[in-house]
Amino acid sequence: MPEKVPAKVTMEKIVSLCRRRGFIFPSSEIYGGLSSCWDYGPLGVELKRNVKQAWWQSVVHERDDMVGLDASILMHPQVWASSGHLEGFSDPLVECKTCHLRWRVDDLKENNCPSCGGELTEPRMFNLMFKTFMGPIEDEAATVYLRPETAQGMFVNFENVLNTTRKRLPFGIAQIGKAFRNEITTGNFIFRSREFEQMEIEYFVKPGTDKEWFDYWVKERLNWYLTLGIKKENLRLRQHMKKELAHYALDCYDIEYQFPMGWAELEGIANRGDFDLVQHAKYSGKSLVYFDDEVKKHYVPYVVEPSAGVDRSTLAVLCDAYDEELDNDEIRVVLRFHTKLAPIKVAILPLSRKEPVVELAKQVYTDLRQRWIVQYDDAQSIGRRYRRQDEIGTPYCVTIDFQSLEDNQATIRERDSMNQIRVPISTLKTVLTAKFNGEDLFVLPPGGQIWKGGEDKGQKN
Ligand code: ATP
Repeated sequence: MPEKVPAKVTMEKIVSLCRRRGFIFPSSEIYGGLSSCWDYGPLGVELKRNVKQAWWQSVVHERDDMVGLDASILMHPQVWASSGHLEGFSDPLVECKTCHLRWRVDDLKENNCPSCGGELTEPRMFNLMFKTFMGPIEDEAATVYLRPETAQGMFVNFENVLNTTRKRLPFGIAQIGKAFRNEITTGNFIFRSREFEQMEIEYFVKPGTDKEWFDYWVKERLNWYLTLGIKKENLRLRQHMKKELAHYALDCYDIEYQFPMGWAELEGIANRGDFDLVQHAKYSGKSLVYFDDEVKKHYVPYVVEPSAGVDRSTLAVLCDAYDEELDNDEIRVVLRFHTKLAPIKVAILPLSRKEPVVELAKQVYTDLRQRWIVQYDDAQSIGRRYRRQDEIGTPYCVTIDFQSLEDNQATIRERDSMNQIRVPISTLKTVLTAKFNGEDLFVLPPGGQIWKGGEDKGQKN
């Protein structure tokens, strides 16, 4: 294996790679960008979809006790009064009397402006919800809000889901969707933005069993990040102190990741008691209770809420996968994504732009893309193409050369080890499927051979 360079992942490196390779761009860039809004480019959109798909698979498709939901972003304004957001979803804001920059008080380490050292105003509470108007005439129209979390869509649909799915407790509703917060201070790339995506679960349980389920979900969710290939040493749990807890929360843990700027929240898991259903029942006049056939009693379920951020998970995946190593006096940058998250699974690299190599390479490309997201790349030297695929985290490259025309074989090169094997083209699909399922690269199909010699095709063993 090539020597490691003691390079640290920095946010600058991640931002620059994301920009350069088409993962993430500043929003409206040709107009100078819009503060703290980001656009996911061709690779970023695939990566983010894979993160969401992994979550949905684990919390909905693989479970009998969970169902999905996709509620609208705009909701009845009363929802936000009942949930307490209208009154309480605020952060303390101070303004610098000299440079007029605004800061969130709980982010400040000193009493003066971090930018110019100027004196700060007294804190005032600033509501983070974005307002807009429903209807064509602003004055007459109802004020509505862009949801600051997806959770409320699940609470207000509790009865609908219960009646239509006939689920029994304990069961949960899962939802992925956009949320909007007019954050006072944003930054650290996609870590804190004003428009972001959440992956949230509301898990309804019998009161008295909530502590058990809370512990269960804390473990379950921490484990999910490990299944994405995130290193254990970069994850930790932090229990909220009493004074940090929202007034209705009985307990709360944050799952934190060691980002380049330090440990910070990826996901919060809260035991919310019966607060939300009680509030919505009170203000809607609907009875949001559950009839338990076993004890023949009505009660309001308690709720355990694991609430994760899609963008923060994507950022954690990017930071965790980033690696640099010395290879032939050059620095090789590799994104060592888990294969299920890699935006491009296989790259087809013909060693010539001439027929009939191209024809064969295109045939392989057409065949493999039926199963995976595959990229065809014939621009520049093979070494540069390998580097490009390493930098975007493609797990396998398949090289078609002149010899392939004679022996009907292709070379598979593995991203992490840079080892190569040569296999019959007719076996490519089965071999790659096996490798994606975790089989060692050097387990060969009949007729397969191990190749040595790095990127320049090398000699047969
Ligand atoms: P923070 O303390 O960082 O502001 P929070 O505790 O307010 O976060 P929650 O309300 O628990 O966050 O939201 C659940 C998840 O949604 C967070 O763990 C995070 O992953 C994501 N999230 C919240 N706010 C943002 C944001 N402004 N940008 C990106 N993701 C966010």
